[in-house]
Amino acid sequence: MKVTEYIQNADKTLFSFEILPPLKGQSLSNLLEGIAPLMEFKPPFIDVTYHREEYVYKKHANGLLEKVSTRKRPGTVGICAAIMNRFKVDAVPHLLCGGFSREETENALIDLYFIGVENVLALRGDAPKTDANFVPHNDGHRYASGLVEQIIGMNKGRYLHDETEVGFQTDFCVGVAGYPEKHFEAPSMNYDLKKLKAKVDAGATYVVTQMFFDNRKYFAFVEKVREMGLDIPIIPGLKPITTLSQIVNLPRIFFLDLPDDLLTALEKCKSNADVKEVGIAWAIQQSKELVAYGVPTLHYYTMSRADATYRVAKEVF
Ligand code: FAD
Repeated sequence: MKVTEYIQNADKTLFSFEILPPLKGQSLSNLLEGIAPLMEFKPPFIDVTYHREEYVYKKHANGLLEKVSTRKRPGTVGICAAIMNRFKVDAVPHLLCGGFSREETENALIDLYFIGVENVLALRGDAPKTDANFVPHNDGHRYASGLVEQIIGMNKGRYLHDETEVGFQTDFCVGVAGYPEKHFEAPSMNYDLKKLKAKVDAGATYVVTQMFFDNRKYFAFVEKVREMGLDIPIIPGLKPITTLSQIVNLPRIFFLDLPDDLLTALEKCKSNADVKEVGIAWAIQQSKELVAYGVPTLHYYTMSRADATYRVAKEVF
């Protein structure tokens, strides 16, 4: 079923979450066993991230370095199939512009449609760590709005090189990313909001937000989106902080602020175990306030470690 249908049919806030494919060589069964306890909270859908190629330097016997392309976390499509098969829950693969030609995107969408995927989250993706800026594939999309357009085109039976007499139409529900604290490249919040509107105008029907730790940022974001006349579901993304290193890394990687109250509590922590208790308590408080506000779904970034999200959900759902 479509994410938007789950939301329309629900009379209360739903629970959903995101997982990452395991690092290459690690097992899928560990991942599936790890998230199994979260099924207690009846997620209607689970998001599976996509990880594009990265570059590593391989040293040859003659001392020369060769730049080699690799993917550390392949398997998004296979994991979607495994989730749907094992848990009978819809899987939402993330689909990127970065690294894909339009034709590869088309073929990936056909694969997804054939395995029964009904929803996709359409994203631009970031530049590989070795590159300064995002550069699209020669024949790919520069912005997520172009990807949304292509998916919606397929829903209308439009293919790139349509040689069939009667082509089939896909029927994907398309979500996109939103940034309560602004996307890091956007010159202003209003600019970023207009680009979000372009994704919705192209056919996206729901938004999942970047993680945030101050609910007021989310409330202000929703207000601004509504002012643009968009009434689509805006799903808040939440992450319980669990390690000392995340206090520095989350703001650095995701361009977000940690509120003073949270930082004061985190600064008193001496170990990861202490941080985890503070992070879980904060996420519970955030979640309860968002439920009271009436959010459609609470969407947790689990980083494929379910225990903190389990403890939060146990208090909220
Ligand atoms: P876009 O919507 O294309 O926006 C990118 C930037 O360009 C913004 O600054 C925007 O303001 C600007 N912009 C947009 N359209 C235009 C235009 N027409 N003209 C000029 N400027 C424009 N990354 C992954 O690699 N894999 C994942 O699985 C993944 N999952 C994610 C899930 C969520 C919920 C979120 C919030 C992010 C996720 N990301 C993932 C990260 C995402 O790929 C990055 O944040 C990326 O930098 C932007 O993606 P986007 O889809 O928001 O891009």
